[in-house]
Amino acid sequence: MNWINRFATLGPEFSAQVLPSPVPEPMWVGRNFELAASLGLPEDWLNSADGLSVFSGNGLLEGMQSIASVYSGHQFGQWAGQLGDGRALSLGEFQSEKAAIEIQLKGAGKTPFSRMGDGRAVLRSSIREYLCSEAMAGLGIPTTRALCLSTSPQKVIREEVETAAIVTRTAPSFIRFGHFEHFANQPSSKGADNLKQLADFTLTHFVRANSNFSDNPYANLLWEVTQSTAKLMAQWQSVGFCHGVMNTDNMSILGLTLDYGPFQFLDGFNPNHICNHSDHTGRYAYGRQPQVAYWNLFCLAQALMPLIETQELAMRALESYKLTFSNAWSEKFLSKLGLAVSDVPEQLESDTQLLNNLLEIMAAEQVDFTAFWRRLSVAVVESSTEASAWRQVADLFLDQAAWQAWQTRYLDRLNQLDVNQCQERMYKVNPKYVLRNHLAESAIQKSKMGDHSEVETLFKLLQSPFDDQAPFDHYANLPPAWASSIEISCSS
Ligand code: AMP
Ligand code: MG
Repeated sequence: MNWINRFATLGPEFSAQVLPSPVPEPMWVGRNFELAASLGLPEDWLNSADGLSVFSGNGLLEGMQSIASVYSGHQFGQWAGQLGDGRALSLGEFQSEKAAIEIQLKGAGKTPFSRMGDGRAVLRSSIREYLCSEAMAGLGIPTTRALCLSTSPQKVIREEVETAAIVTRTAPSFIRFGHFEHFANQPSSKGADNLKQLADFTLTHFVRANSNFSDNPYANLLWEVTQSTAKLMAQWQSVGFCHGVMNTDNMSILGLTLDYGPFQFLDGFNPNHICNHSDHTGRYAYGRQPQVAYWNLFCLAQALMPLIETQELAMRALESYKLTFSNAWSEKFLSKLGLAVSDVPEQLESDTQLLNNLLEIMAAEQVDFTAFWRRLSVAVVESSTEASAWRQVADLFLDQAAWQAWQTRYLDRLNQLDVNQCQERMYKVNPKYVLRNHLAESAIQKSKMGDHSEVETLFKLLQSPFDDQAPFDHYANLPPAWASSIEISCSS
């Protein structure tokens, strides 16, 4: 078969060859047939005992070469030294007619980089990754994609005894900021050679050249990563996604959402919301994500400095973050109001004011983020015929005077526009369904009892988060009271 294992060819300084550790009695929890078809993967992979065996770590297909890569990183703002794929194993890149795609197992046993860990992943966190990566893809947000999820009766010890699971995930590449930091911090001249080799590899296979930095491919690399990261942050913010562990080892060089751990979609809008129970200082709070991404890009820039050489070029590449992020953020959030970014400065300023005032009154009461924007989208179109649609929005606010004052200004603005165009914009950015913590939790509880039907239901639902899916209306309800007591930490 068509396996090209390009990362493995970089040599032993970059990765170790490791076989997956088998598990007893594997079984499917979920299979992403749509992804398999869109990538041009062989049909029998998800439909055969051989496929189940491979994607639970019990064997390799001919041509696969399983490796764990080494990387380092900054965790919670501190240099953490060597980390590496402690429980991820790359099986290589499959070259179909459509694309070359890297395929990884997560939770398939120990590697030389497991440190104190067992190399395993538990069912609950694997379900969360399986569902959320598909939910992000459904939202149109760059992400690694899950191909399938399997489990086994094998026990895994965390705070309590749990069940092992293995997520198979795909991406054009899983190279992280931390891969570059690793070689930049190797003391020897070998480190410098390795760093250059990795940068050249990334440039050759994954990053297009742009004319801004035609003389300096490494500044070009930094610029491209800066651009894609800035855009990714605007997208996360616009759907209320909190990653939870934005360490540099969890940042993709391709601007993909990577490593789903204690993530959360906001319920109530609170810029200070912390979704990771282990994040005591709120370093990775929702409102801080764009700033943290910029900080992480600085770490990457520092790692690339021996190659870029000229500080001014590195700064220019990094500085592009601010404008790209703020433009992308404005574009997304104004779209959420049904507005386009006006090229008349006064209009843009007044629209931005309207938006910021709204975010203030939402934050003051922690108004439900997803429900608000969706109800607003419905109300905008039905305003002439359906007063109750506006009632549904107003019901989300306790401070009715603040809401009505804002609504009056908004309706004045809408009067200048074609509401059908507004709606079209709004329905593309204001999802009806997101993977709220309590929805994932319900699926997890059922799966723990051996019933994976809720995983399947959510998986399908979240593939089309912008569509009304009438039988599933209740999945768009406000979270139940118990949702706020769910605690998700790094332990998974
Ligand atoms: P994370 O916080 O999940 O991004 O993980 C940080 C580092 O710890 C990475 O190098 C992981 O591979 C490693 N790690 C996390 N959990 C385990 C585990 N159960 N066994 C081995 N390594 C792990
Ligand atoms: Mg990680």
